[in-house]
This record gives sequence, C-alpha cells and structure tokens, in this order.
Amino acid sequence: MDIVTGLMIWAAEATTLAVLLWSRWFYEREDFYLSWGSGFALHGMGVALLALRGSIPDFVSIQIANTTVFVAVGLWIAGLLQFDRKPVQGFVAIPALIWIAGMFLDPVRESFANRVVLYNCAAMAGYAIMIGILVRDNGPSRVTRRFMAGFISVQFIANGASAILATVNQPTSFATAPNAALLFFPAAFCFVAGIMSGAKLLTERSEEKLKALAVTDPLTGVLNRRGLIDEFHGLRELEKAEKPLIALLHFDLDSFKQINDRCGHQAGDAVLIAFSQVGQTSLRGRGFFGRMGGEEFASILRVADMVEAASIAEAIRLTLKRQIIVTGEHRIKVTVSAGIALAVAQDANLDLLLSAADKALYSAKESGRDRTAIDTGVEASIVPAVDRQGEDEAPADLRANRQVAALKRLATLGKR
Ligand code: GH3
Ligand code: MG
Ligand code: MG
Repeated sequence: MDIVTGLMIWAAEATTLAVLLWSRWFYEREDFYLSWGSGFALHGMGVALLALRGSIPDFVSIQIANTTVFVAVGLWIAGLLQFDRKPVQGFVAIPALIWIAGMFLDPVRESFANRVVLYNCAAMAGYAIMIGILVRDNGPSRVTRRFMAGFISVQFIANGASAILATVNQPTSFATAPNAALLFFPAAFCFVAGIMSGAKLLTERSEEKLKALAVTDPLTGVLNRRGLIDEFHGLRELEKAEKPLIALLHFDLDSFKQINDRCGHQAGDAVLIAFSQVGQTSLRGRGFFGRMGGEEFASILRVADMVEAASIAEAIRLTLKRQIIVTGEHRIKVTVSAGIALAVAQDANLDLLLSAADKALYSAKESGRDRTAIDTGVEASIVPAVDRQGEDEAPADLRANRQVAALKRLATLGKR
C-alpha cells in the first residue's frame, strides 16, 4: 500500500466520523458534536488534499491543505471547551495561525524540511492546548480524560521527534524522509486511541445524565425520593464532629387540594415549583432538599442541635408564607407545615427518622397547620413561632430570642 492510498483511507475514516458526529448533533443539539464533526470533516478534507500532492496545484496541496488540517484542530479544541461548558476562546486558532504565519516567511515556505518543522510545531501547540484542557478537570471522567491526554501526548512527542528529524536530515520530500515513517505508526495508533477515549467520554457523559435523571423530580427539578435517600446515606457517613446530628425535615403544603380545585392543576404545579425554589435556596450549601411525592417535600442535613434544624424549617415556612405565587391570572398564597426528627448521625435509621418526622408533621397539622413541630423523643412539640402576631405583641427580635430560648428548653426536655 502506498502513502496516497493510506492517506485516502484516513480521509474516508475521518469523513465517516464527521457524519456520525453530525447526526448526533442533529438529534441532541449539543454544540460539541457540531464542532467535533466539522473538525473531522475538515481534517479528512485536508488529508485528502495532502494526498493529492503532485496531481493538484502545490498551493492547494500545501498551503490550503495544512491550513484546513489546523482549522480542524481548532474545532476539536473548541469542541472540548464546549464539552466542558466553557466559552470558546480565541486561542483555538493558534495552530492555524502558526501555520499561516509561517507561510508568509520565504525560507519556511520554500523548504520542505522547514515546512515539516513548522507543521509539527503547529500540531504540538494544538495538542498541548488539548492536553491542558483535558487534565485541568477533576470531574467524574477524570481517568478517561487522563488516558486521552496520554494518547495525545504520544502524538505531541512524535511531532517533536519529527521536527527534530527534519531539522537534522533536511529531507526534500516525503519520499526522502524515511525515518518519519517510523513515527507515523505510534502517532496513528494514538490518534485512533484518542478518538476511542473521546467516545468513552461521551458515553460517560450520557451515563451521568441518566444517573442525574434517575434522582431528579421532573416537575420541580429538585431531588426525588431516591435522590434524598442516596444523600441520606452520604450524610450519615460524613465525619463532622461539630454537627453530630442528622435532621430530617418533612414538609407538607397546607390545603393543597383546594388550590388544585380552585385554580386548576397547572396552578398547583406552579406552587410546587415555587416551594421547591424556596426549599432549594434555603438549603443551598447546608444540606439537601427534595420532593418525596405529591405535595410532600423533605430536607436532610447535618446540624449541631435541634435549634439549628428548627430555625431552618421555620425560615422555609416563613419565606413561603410571605410569598405571593403569580401564575396565569391567579395570585396564590400558601402555607406549609413541617415535622422534624433528629438522630445521632452514625446510628441514624432512615425508616425511624421518616416515621418520627411524619408523626411530628401530623401534630403540626392537628394544631392548625402553618407551623413546625419537632419530635423530641418523648412526643412532638410545636416550635414557638415568631410570626404569631395576634398572640404576642413583643418586638420581632425579642420574639426571636424567646423562640430560641423556648427551643433550647425543648431540647433539654427531649433526649437529644
Ligand atoms: P393538608 O393540609 O391536610 O395537607 O391538605 P392537602 O389538601 O394538602 O392534602 P391532601 O393529601 O388531601 O392533598 C394533596 C393533593 O396534592 C392531592 C393531589 O391531587 C395533589 N397533588 C399530588 N401531586 C400533584 C402534582 O404533581 N401536581 C398537582 N397540581 N397536584 C398534585
Ligand atoms: Mg400530603
Ligand atoms: Mg398537604
């Protein structure tokens, strides 16, 4: 097999890959598919033009062909950035610019050996950028990314060696550069291996998406029951001496059925979404919030004491209460009741916590809704609220202080 046939096969393979990636783009509309697909299409085109050296004008088979190859490298880099959800930056053009700049220099343009050196320098710049992008990420695909970076590194080294060989041997054409063929094989092998690890990256991305979907509630976007259970196990194992307890906060929207009946199911959905946002924002960085099903939600988090758990539940309850949810022509006000259960993290049992929180929630509902009850180990106690205006004329900060004092009393009453 001669070099022209080899290059033509290479070009055909690249074009096939381009078509595959374009069709993935067509269905999934993820920009990196488009960039990578176009990268392989241009790469194939460039390689085919290189193969036609001698049969077509030199300007096309040298200047245009290599520029095309390096624009392709730029598109691969752009695709990597898009894959990482980063903006595409000007540096993607560096390999192509190195090549184009070299073509303006007579000694480079007119000597085959110098062109080989320039080509390899531009390729090394492109590969170095790719390696940098691949290894700076420490996400779930870390191992695959390192492998891909490794394969690209071999190509980087092969390019370096080619540049040195060309400098030493000063070949005048592909035919008079015999040592270069030795480097072709490891480089080609690693090119293919690099593409395969790229395919593995795509598979891992799809798996991640599926995993995320399996623990996400489709209506509200917060964790679902499954996701909350997973996080519970993670939180239980956490070494966190200053927050020895695990708290389960169980929320149930008050008279939610009436909202559906009066304003329609869609308005009901809007309320569920609004409450999810309240819960999610209040818990951010402190613990997890999710939907258990229907109009029931829960949070799990590590806390120092009962007071901390109760103040978070109260903050969520009050934030929702003060909000007017506007949906269609409806302006909806809604309240929520909460039940809290606590356990020492290491021996926390989810079923026991759920049933204790449920009992507390039941007593919050029984006592008139729009309040928080806490399981103290003996019985459920209502958390003294700061917003019971009619029942207490004292200023807000004093009421807040009283609430904390009352909670502390509650805490000493309970076993924990
Ligand atoms: P309570 O104060 O005692 O909690 O009264 P409630 O009306 O909130 O309680 P109930 O359990 O009787 O009603 C829950 C309602 O939630 C019934 C069901 O139709 C509604 N629901 C469950 N899932 C969804 C949903 O995804 N969207 C909407 N819009 N409604 C839902
Ligand atoms: Mg309910
Ligand atoms: Mg309800």
